[in-house]
Amino acid sequence: MPRLFFALWPEPAVREELYRLAQTARLTGGGRLMRRDNLHQTLVFIGNVGERQVASVRAVGADIKAQPFTLEFGTAGFWRHNRCVWAGPVATPASLSELVAALEEGLARAGIAYDRRPYSPHVTLLRDARSPAPSPRTRFDWPVRDFVLLESARDARAVVYREIARWPLAV
Ligand code: ATP
Ligand code: MG
Repeated sequence: MPRLFFALWPEPAVREELYRLAQTARLTGGGRLMRRDNLHQTLVFIGNVGERQVASVRAVGADIKAQPFTLEFGTAGFWRHNRCVWAGPVATPASLSELVAALEEGLARAGIAYDRRPYSPHVTLLRDARSPAPSPRTRFDWPVRDFVLLESARDARAVVYREIARWPLAV
């Protein structure tokens, strides 16, 4: 049963910026760095689905019509309950909220269960951190031109995300 989620996966330059933020944050509050290749922003978490449902999830992604947008990264936060340090955009563009809403609607219509907690855009940087990270001193843009369907799997040593499909943002 694959474990699936829709996400934004950064291009290499953005990935480096995020990884640098994570390294800086760790100097203050400790914690475990997310693997560089795993840095991502979840759009909708689906979880385990049967093999036959994978095609339905793909069809939901393929049906999406949404505008590209740019995220301006510049905030950081700390969730005490899971001791995770995250980075986030200073504002949530309407196009991002619309993309998430369209995915959720598509999944609901297809009868596929997903995590229904209110959406809170963030990239997890550190796990098991002791304390909040200071606010980042720099901002950077993350131009979002596409989104992906990822499978979260585990190899011998670590969690690895495998790209199942990628779709451009276009209306
Ligand atoms: P691990 O949990 O082993 O440390 P991970 O969190 O990187 O690894 P997953 O647990 O498969 O990998 O999670 C993939 C993505 O989905 C992450 O962004 C995670 O925060 C998010 N996620 C996981 N479980 C849920 C859930 N029940 N509801 C919402 N989002 C979730
Ligand atoms: Mg997890």
